[in-house]
Amino acid sequence: MNYKKLADMLFPNINTTISYYEEKVFPIRNLKTGAKVTRLGPSPTGFIHLGNLYGAFVDERLAHQSEGVFMLRIEDTDEKRKVEGAVETIISSLKYFGLNFDEGATIDGEKGSYGPYFQSNRVEIYQCVAKYMIEQGRAYPCFCTEEELEEVRKLQEAESVNTGYYGKWAKDRDITVEEVQAHLDNNDSFVIRFKSNGTTEGIFEIEDAIRGKLQIHENYQDAVILKTNGIPTYHFAHVVDDHFMRVTHVVRGEEWLSTLPIHYEIFKTLGWDTPIYCHTAHLMKMDNGSKRKLSKRKDPELGLGYYMDLGYHPAAVREYLLTILNSNFEEWRINNPDSNIDDFEFTLEKMSNSGALFDLDKLNNISKDILVKIPVEEIYDFLMKWSIGHKTEIIDILNKNKSEVMKLLSVGRSGDKPRKDLMYCEQIFEFISYFFDEYFEIADKYPDNIDEAEAKKLLQAYLNTYNHNDNQSEWFDKIRIIAEENGYAAKPKDYKKNPDMYKGHVGDVSSVIRIAIIGRATSPDIWEIQQIMGEKKVRERIEKQLI
Ligand code: GLU
Repeated sequence: MNYKKLADMLFPNINTTISYYEEKVFPIRNLKTGAKVTRLGPSPTGFIHLGNLYGAFVDERLAHQSEGVFMLRIEDTDEKRKVEGAVETIISSLKYFGLNFDEGATIDGEKGSYGPYFQSNRVEIYQCVAKYMIEQGRAYPCFCTEEELEEVRKLQEAESVNTGYYGKWAKDRDITVEEVQAHLDNNDSFVIRFKSNGTTEGIFEIEDAIRGKLQIHENYQDAVILKTNGIPTYHFAHVVDDHFMRVTHVVRGEEWLSTLPIHYEIFKTLGWDTPIYCHTAHLMKMDNGSKRKLSKRKDPELGLGYYMDLGYHPAAVREYLLTILNSNFEEWRINNPDSNIDDFEFTLEKMSNSGALFDLDKLNNISKDILVKIPVEEIYDFLMKWSIGHKTEIIDILNKNKSEVMKLLSVGRSGDKPRKDLMYCEQIFEFISYFFDEYFEIADKYPDNIDEAEAKKLLQAYLNTYNHNDNQSEWFDKIRIIAEENGYAAKPKDYKKNPDMYKGHVGDVSSVIRIAIIGRATSPDIWEIQQIMGEKKVRERIEKQLI
């Protein structure tokens, strides 16, 4: 069989060679020893998710901890799944979470010398390698139609053998040059298939940097490497790109483990070193007491848009992701509360290989811890920026009340035990929204032991004695007096001792006041809030409840 002739017939316009690419276009990178080259390869489907971000953090840490290179490669070989604007979404989302690429697709074009970084622009490179494989007798054109493939599948099922295109079932495996010519003359469409040398019994060993040594069944299928439109399948694009782009570590989801044998065999066939594979575990969540995979359909929190829409701070998400990425991160954080997160040494060995558990409550708690360390001015700016993209109706309010907003956010934040009230922008605004009359509403009920009439009596007493210039203890002493005068214990412990002697205690009285002023039963220090509100607003709020 004249493979050279076959290759030229199929790819008459491809004149480049693998060594040309290796030597002239994509030479070995000039990096220090041990430097890792990683890439994120999202497909522009319009949905960028936590799994992408999770993998991206691994890529980013591996590359930047080792003074290597972190690339963004857009895997856009599937025309049907491409969505307008998806690339911009990918880039802006990853930027939001603080992931900085050294090379690859950017909003203003591409940067780096191992591009193009869009797979759709690398077609000639794939075809050059495919042509070489045909010349070597390790790939061939397959003209089988969908119907023929279906026919084969039925026969295989009837014989109870593995389905697929392989061995004696691979009709076009030994197609002749003349047959190919006839098909070409006929304009028949064809794919290029890899000619596998594997067997159904064969096993190979490979070291996965997260999972350890893997023993896997070899590939024996003649997988499609170029589709009818000459565009590569994932399997082929992965091998070719990661080789030429000099990627050292392939971090990808465990869903790719099942096709790893194909990739492995293609690498070996081409005489190329395999990269170090790092197959990450699926992100799981607890659902009714059992663990399951996060699902696009059921779990809005899987999409990155969820966090950006709610206004999670990237530092919080980053901190949280590291807690699920590396089992020793939390301990490190306890011992290094004020260190920069990048000082933590991330390692693949400390990654879970059995499903990382994602928990929104935990993210919220971490977010509280992180936000309490961020200066209020920065939180204000973050909130402002978020409102511009996500809640335009509050831009004006935030602008006009900058100093009050900052003060409201600061209440109780200093000292040894700072309050940790803030989680994400949507909630932060909600947290202080009572301040603005247009958002103010009575959300909570008075304590059960206090009815409307009683509440009015207490509020009237409060209004009568209210002096905006009172300091905190003078102010609270007055509330104690109101409590006592109206039959409430001045101290909760007195009430506990003799509950029958009182209607309640001072806490109930201050609850009534708090609810009248801010509409809620719990909040940071109400005296401080009143000072920020100003006397007029405080009196108006109380008066409103007296009507
Ligand atoms: N385009 C692939 C995906 O979105 C990338 C997998 C890989 O990183 O190799 O799943």
